[in-house]
Amino acid sequence: ARIVDPGGDAEERRIEAALRPRRLAEFPGQPRVSDQLALVLEAARRRGAPPDHILLSGPPGLGKTSLAMIVAAELEQPIRITSGPAIQHAGDLAAILSSLAEGEVLFLDEIHRMARPAEEMLYLAMEDFRVDVIVGKGPGATAIPLELPPFTVVGATTRAGLLPAPLRDRFGFTGHLDYYSADDLSAILTRSAGLLGVEATPEGIREVAGRSRGTPRIANRLLRRVRDYAQVHGSAVVDLPSARAALELFDVDDRGLDRLDRAVLEALCRRFGGGPVGLSTLAVAVGEEPDTVETVSEPYLVREGYLIRTPRGRAAAPLAWQHLGLTPPDSAGT
Ligand code: ADP
Repeated sequence: ARIVDPGGDAEERRIEAALRPRRLAEFPGQPRVSDQLALVLEAARRRGAPPDHILLSGPPGLGKTSLAMIVAAELEQPIRITSGPAIQHAGDLAAILSSLAEGEVLFLDEIHRMARPAEEMLYLAMEDFRVDVIVGKGPGATAIPLELPPFTVVGATTRAGLLPAPLRDRFGFTGHLDYYSADDLSAILTRSAGLLGVEATPEGIREVAGRSRGTPRIANRLLRRVRDYAQVHGSAVVDLPSARAALELFDVDDRGLDRLDRAVLEALCRRFGGGPVGLSTLAVAVGEEPDTVETVSEPYLVREGYLIRTPRGRAAAPLAWQHLGLTPPDSAGT
């Protein structure tokens, strides 16, 4: 897996568990979503009723799962965790829904990847706190309505636009998470270093933050690698020299680009004169599948303004040339 992959596998999620903020007050960054959530939760507490269902949208690694757990902690309720891909049949969801306790939080990660029949069952349950359990098969099948105690769904999605409107409309509150500033990432890293028992200087922290692509998961991962490096090579302190040396070893450059990102830009500028060039041609040039280039590398390059998608293919932006230390062939017309 790439060191700058914003997603995390099961093993990493286990390691991360120790680094998750537990309460809203210790959740750095995302001030807007944080304030909005604080209000929604406080109002629910005063009413003595579960809050509206909550949808969290935003790219991977920005804290959606952490916030879902925080919602449960703030409400002092247990949390049930599952995900869209794990629910392939309506029956899977019915089993979960019918076993929820009153007030419980149901966290549905990647909610946009749930099977259609389950989706329909979910929005009825969210609206009426009821599921129809189908008994029997064929013409004799009957739907037996089952009352559910009130509960709160916290849904997470990287693509809010992919949710069908009827489901999206059942969420009374939607919070959009955005990439973190270097200051917020520094705050997160300082806290993580403390939890990991690692000594770190502000310069070292800042260096890691600047290469973390606005994403706490990547920041925490890079911090662990810099810690490893510092522990093996002397001082055991995450400082500027150890951060630089470790991140060079792991091929993460000063703007957070990794080997693949740079290969894409190099190919675009050196071989195709800056483009535009078709995705598949570009992918062949870097020895990757088009899908990998498109989903793994491109989003960040586009977001940061290195690469432009045009109707005729991919083109290098001025920043790409600059980052590679190259001069664009004809800066006049472009
Ligand atoms: P998502 O569900 O959006 O993919 P997670 O909630 O799993 O993201 O967060 C990924 C990692 O980043 C976790 O280790 C978590 O501790 C850390 N993290 C995310 N947001 C924050 C934050 N605001 N403050 C501190 N750590 C954070």
